[in-house]
Formats: sequence, C-alpha cells, structure tokens
Amino acid sequence: MKLYKNHVMKEHSNMKIGGVAKEYIEIENKDELLEVIKDKKNIFILGNGTNTLINDGVLETTFISLKPINYIEEKSEGLVEVGSGLDFSELIDYMEEKDYTGLENLAGIPGTVGGLVFMNGGAHGTEIFDKISSVEVIDEKGILRKIDKENIKFSYRITEIKEKKWIVVSTTFKFDKGYLKEVVDRYKLKRNENHPLNEPNLGSTFKNPEGLFSARLIIEAGLQGKKIGGAEVSMVHPNFIVNKGDAKFVDIIEIIKTVKSEVKSKTGIELEEEIIIVEN
Ligand SMILES: Cc1cc2nc3c(=O)[nH]c(=O)nc-3n(C[C@H](O)[C@H](O)[C@H](O)COP(=O)(O)OP(=O)(O)OC[C@H]3O[C@@H](n4cnc5c(N)ncnc54)[C@H](O)[C@@H]3O)c2cc1C
Repeated sequence: MKLYKNHVMKEHSNMKIGGVAKEYIEIENKDELLEVIKDKKNIFILGNGTNTLINDGVLETTFISLKPINYIEEKSEGLVEVGSGLDFSELIDYMEEKDYTGLENLAGIPGTVGGLVFMNGGAHGTEIFDKISSVEVIDEKGILRKIDKENIKFSYRITEIKEKKWIVVSTTFKFDKGYLKEVVDRYKLKRNENHPLNEPNLGSTFKNPEGLFSARLIIEAGLQGKKIGGAEVSMVHPNFIVNKGDAKFVDIIEIIKTVKSEVKSKTGIELEEEIIIVEN
C-alpha cells in the first residue's frame, strides 16, 4: 500500500482539473482494501479518472486507487477473472490473444474494468454487463461478496453497485471464441475521428435520454462551441465538454448548468449527467 497525504489530484482526472486531497492511497490487494476502508469516511474509489470531475479546491476525500489490482486469471476455458484496476484496453488485448469475443464494440473506452462495471459502461449497442458472469464486491457493510450477474440489477449506465456504493474488486467474464479484429479497428478509428482526444475531456457529459441523443439536443439548442471560462462544448462532439487549457472546476459546472437549462427550455428535455462529480 502507498499512502500520499495532501496529494494533488489534477493528473488523476482526464479533465486535468483537481485540487489537493486529504489522502490518496494505492491499494495492492483485497486484504489491504478491506482494512483501509474500515476506519475511513468520505472515500472515493478512482479508476483512470476518465469519467470523474474533481473539484480544484481543498478536498476532504480519501481517494483510493485499485490500479495495482490488475491481474487477469483464466479460471477455465472462457471464464476470466479480472482485477478492477486493469485498463479495459488490456482486456481487449487479452481477448485478441485468446481469440475471445463479445466486448469488441467497447474497444477504445479509456477506463478501468472496475470503472466500466461500476456504471455498466458501453458503446454501439453493447454493455460490459453483456459478458459478465459474476462480480466480486465489497458491499455497504464492508463485506466481500461474489455475486452472480443474475442477482445484480443493471440497466443503461446504472447498476446496483453504483446505487449502493459498492466497491468492485474483481469481475469474472464469460467469453466465447471468435475475436473480431475488424470491429475493434473500426471503432477505434471512429473514436479518433469523432472524439476530441487531443483536449482534456471526460467522454459523454450527459446520458442519452431514451430514444434520443444528447449530442443532437445540444446542437439543436445552438450550444455547440459554447464557452464558459476555459470550458467549451466541443466542436468535435457536442456531448463532450473540453478543457481548453485553463478551465476551472467552476467553469465546467457552469457550462453543464447552462447546457441543461437551455436544452430544457428549448426542447423540454431534462438532461442527466453521466460524469461523476467529486465536490469535496
Ligand atoms: C474519450 C472518452 C471516451 C469515452 N467513451 C465512453 C464510451 O463509449 N462508453 C462509456 O460507457 N464510457 C465512455 N467514457 C467514459 C469512461 O471512460 C467510462 O465511464 C469508464 O468506465 C470510466 O472508467 P474509469 O476507470 O476512468 O473510472 P473513473 O472515472 O475513475 O470513475 C468513474 C466512477 O466509477 C467509480 N469506480 C471506478 N472504479 C471503481 C471500482 N473498482 N469500484 C467501485 N467504483 C469504481 C468511481 O468511484 C466513479 O464514481 C469515455 C471517456 C473518455 C474520456
């Protein structure tokens, strides 16, 4: 375990905004995790920070990183247990190596496996839960449990894990044979073309309302390119907010509020944030 006090968080969020946290702890195994969370309040589990906006003031939060828990273990043919800290891209590489199929549509998502499972991340009609067999969590009572997928509630970008604030320790996937390399290549290319990858961002800011696209609603409300301080509604992908270099936390919050209120007044639709915001 590595513990850093008064730790600068800016580099831990893909928005490149973040103040000084009370503590930042890197955990190496389950036992350490169980021990550390016993007496800590106000903890936040951080993956790659690709969906997390962090306040740039002083934070009372203890951030816990599970990045060192990044193993892949083949339990039996096609049954693969993965530590939460693993980069999702490494799982895709492993699937290619083993000729496993099922999650190719998600290739290019920059999060950890734990981060994706927490919110049932997905793309192009596939969600990570499609290939999950079970998830090992620490529940709200601090108990380590392995739960079969059938006993976990999940839907579009929502899971019981998120709602009950459980910690994802590992996930077991069930894969069939037949890796689709051309699908991975196609979607990675598409992401390079359609996402503002050269500017700090957190992916889609808002969930898509049922049957609609937030990006389209934002365009229709005339908000593409809208700027507040150093924050901008991306010209490349209007559901992305980008940091033009010197954005403050408050700029991102204000632009989110503006987009929500203008979309609401012009279309009557209430957008809901997909990104996670750490206030203090
Ligand atoms: C360019 C870009 C493209 C993206 N495209 C997509 C996309 O196509 N589809 C999509 O769904 N998302 C997309 N995202 C968003 C993001 O990558 C995903 O949501 C990803 O799952 C977040 O993983 P992370 O490790 O970065 O999580 P973080 O940002 O570190 O954390 C996000 C949330 O997950 C929680 N969390 C993380 N790990 C754990 C854990 N082990 N246990 C419990 N809680 C945990 C955190 O507490 C936080 O609430 C994109 C982001 C970017 C920057």
